[in-house]
Amino acid sequence: MMLRKWGLLFAALCLALILAAMAIMPPTPQAANIAADKFSSARAMTDLRIIAARPHPTGSAENAKVRDYLVTRLKSLGLEAGMSESQLGERALKRLNKWSGEAKSEQAIFNVIGVLPGTDLSKPAVLLMAHHDTVWDSPGAADDTVGVVSILEIVRAIKESGPNERSLIVLFTDGEEVGLSGARHFFKENPLREKVGAVINFEARGGGGTANLFQTSKKNGAAVKVFARAVKQPSASSLSTFVYNVLPNDTDLTPALEGDYTAYNIANIGDAEYYHSPKIDVQALDERTLQHMGSQGLDLTRALLLADDLPAKKPDATFFDLFGLFTVIYAPIWGWVFLVAGGLCYGFSQTQENRVKDAVWGAMKMVGFLGLGGVVLYALNMLSGHGGSANYYDRLAAIGKLEALALLFCIAAFFAAFGRTALSANARFGAALPIFILGIVGQVFAPTATYFITLPLLLCGLATLLIRRWPEKIWAKVGAVILAAGVIGYMISLGHLLMLGVGPDMLSVALLPAAISVLAILPLYKGVSKRTANLISALCLVVSVGVALWIRLDPIATTVPLY
Ligand SMILES: [Zn+2]
Repeated sequence: MMLRKWGLLFAALCLALILAAMAIMPPTPQAANIAADKFSSARAMTDLRIIAARPHPTGSAENAKVRDYLVTRLKSLGLEAGMSESQLGERALKRLNKWSGEAKSEQAIFNVIGVLPGTDLSKPAVLLMAHHDTVWDSPGAADDTVGVVSILEIVRAIKESGPNERSLIVLFTDGEEVGLSGARHFFKENPLREKVGAVINFEARGGGGTANLFQTSKKNGAAVKVFARAVKQPSASSLSTFVYNVLPNDTDLTPALEGDYTAYNIANIGDAEYYHSPKIDVQALDERTLQHMGSQGLDLTRALLLADDLPAKKPDATFFDLFGLFTVIYAPIWGWVFLVAGGLCYGFSQTQENRVKDAVWGAMKMVGFLGLGGVVLYALNMLSGHGGSANYYDRLAAIGKLEALALLFCIAAFFAAFGRTALSANARFGAALPIFILGIVGQVFAPTATYFITLPLLLCGLATLLIRRWPEKIWAKVGAVILAAGVIGYMISLGHLLMLGVGPDMLSVALLPAAISVLAILPLYKGVSKRTANLISALCLVVSVGVALWIRLDPIATTVPLY
């Protein structure tokens, strides 16, 4: 009886968790003895242990040692290598003086540059970039040594597979952490900048997690197609590339984007407590993250080096990795097709009775879930210490707890709004209506960013139709379970990335993937008694308040930077 009632939903949730784990977990590290033309995190770790042994901020003696080491390593790899000197600007110098407590009136900075000349110097080169300076007091094993050693291992693997027509340029910038100083200097003044056609920047935000293609140059259609074809264990999303094209952000790629380059920005995001932390050393770094960044970087670099022509500017594409397996890419106009097809699926699962009344009832529930839920989750975030004098890095360290808080609250909101009885097919359509409206608005204003709404609406519509039309057929049940699991699994991984990106400031953002998951759950959900629904809802709410207070009252995290 239990199994008959809950079996399908249980199966969908289990499968969803497996899919989400595939998307969220970086791949296994590769040993030093794998094939020489492959990326091995173990080989890269040898450099990482040396570079990230001690903090090496701009202008420090330790930074000078790291620079010398990098020049030596590039030369040993067969590159023409050296340093390019410039001066820190006024604002950057102020920041550095604030860190060090000194009052320097000038500070020289040094980009480390290496060139592996191709056989055809008329072809635009591929530039790989990462910054060699750290923030004050942090060994920087992640930020940005993981990028620096990825590049060294990529160059080694590229050399292994033979000479290329296209030149490869390596740029290890200085002064990134005080204001992108080295990168600004290169893209404004260094003559080499004119030889560059494509740029890949490697960055770090936290000590683990997946490495993601999170930003590109504008008109990325052809550029992303190269990525999608070449990269075997991808993590990428046109939602984040859209957001980063709109919002200001600071990485070394920012000055490059002012030029006309084809540009890719790859950064890991995860283990947020280690962002800029004095505790992020070799032991704390997740080696899987290094493997993920390097293997994607190598696949992309090789594809760009081998391309007859570097990707031209083509209209922006919609793209995302499917649970880390491969990159799905299509023209954003398909979003309209998904919306219409999803609407038809919901339409064909309608019944005659209470058509309008039930649809309005379902829509009201979803609006309440999102609206009221958003307000309460905002309040819970304030309770947890958001706003006012909260330490930014302490909030980052609390992301795991904030995710638990958001999940508990979403469960409470689900049982409050949808828990009591199984909704009629008409009410399920009603519940989907507010999401359809979001999908239409998104499709108009941000078509490449809206795939995570339009595609799930089609899949949820299909699942609803299968269960409604063929309720006794096993294939219909299996189909609905797979569709629901795909949607929920993606929403869990997306929710996780949203939490890492903006969670501490905008906890309410969790409700959007939660609402889409609700649409996937509803066709399989049979309802519980009013009493049980109220009980679960109240319990989850009370515990989420408890978690909020725990976040507020616990001592400041030991990983928080001291400056
Ligand atoms: Zn950085």
